[in-house]
Amino acid sequence: MKTICFLGECMVELRANDEDTMHQSFAGDVYNSAVYLKRCFGDVSTAIITAVGQDGLSDKMVNRFKCENIDPQFVFKHPSKAPGIYLIETDEKGERSFTYWRSDSAARKVVEFIDDKALERLLKADMFFFSGISLAVIEDIAREKFWQVLEKLKLAGVRVVFDPNYRARLWNSASEAKEQFDKAFSMANIALPGVEDFKELYGINSAQGVVEFCQPFQLEELIVKNGPESVISYSQGALLSHDIVPVTNVVDTTSAGDAFNGVYLGSRLIGQPISESIQLAAIAAGTVIQHPGAIAPKQAFIDAMSAANRQ
Ligand code: AMP
Repeated sequence: MKTICFLGECMVELRANDEDTMHQSFAGDVYNSAVYLKRCFGDVSTAIITAVGQDGLSDKMVNRFKCENIDPQFVFKHPSKAPGIYLIETDEKGERSFTYWRSDSAARKVVEFIDDKALERLLKADMFFFSGISLAVIEDIAREKFWQVLEKLKLAGVRVVFDPNYRARLWNSASEAKEQFDKAFSMANIALPGVEDFKELYGINSAQGVVEFCQPFQLEELIVKNGPESVISYSQGALLSHDIVPVTNVVDTTSAGDAFNGVYLGSRLIGQPISESIQLAAIAAGTVIQHPGAIAPKQAFIDAMSAANRQ
């Protein structure tokens, strides 16, 4: 059985139901990817490496992981911290805004929990995924240890996957993010960036520009996402453009990239070629954006994927 581990933060998501009540769910980039991977590839063992608290919501979060068949063996319980929370508000024009309470979350401490025993189990994985959000969330003092863990994983033959997923507000400065991303790109075997991230951080506006930026790094596989535009892949010297079908009924683009990442990596793990994996990942992402919130309803998602497979 192939195994993938996603390191990062899952948060409590709050969204207004009406004037007085809120709908509560769970979301976070690595969690979203793990969910969609597992929904498509039940045979790929999928774990989240994170830290939660000892409160009721943390228990509920871990139960959610289990309901999505995500392996909780690397979900550590911090004695005094609690999960991060964010609130989605939608104004009268339909514009969404996000407020976060995550600066002191349990997940920021995750690296502290990776001891020799946990590392020994991690070394057996086939893939390890982390994002720019994972990197930003890890506390500064824990970064050195994080890079050492990554080094050991690489030496053991675990394939390292990175998506920059740049969120300016999580970083002290753009230069700090750039310095960390440089390290991440040089450690990664596979990178899954989006053009949007590069626009904001590096002023690079095209998939071709992203490919050029990544040239100095020794990536085995580079997949560049660009909203409804073609996905570009670069691997073993071959640059290919993969058309995707633009979705007209876009409801909420939250987690499009996360769904793409999870399904792409699941497909690659079971041995599918890059082109087929991109097509499947694009169908998954195109399905997710037709539903509100980060996590589309399970049955609707599975039905859409089976319908696409039949075509
Ligand atoms: P993004 O993070 O916006 O670059 O989007 C990630 C992936 O989601 C893209 O590579 C597409 O596969 C898919 N996607 C995003 N927006 C659309 C859209 N309007 N129509 C179809 N697919 C989309």
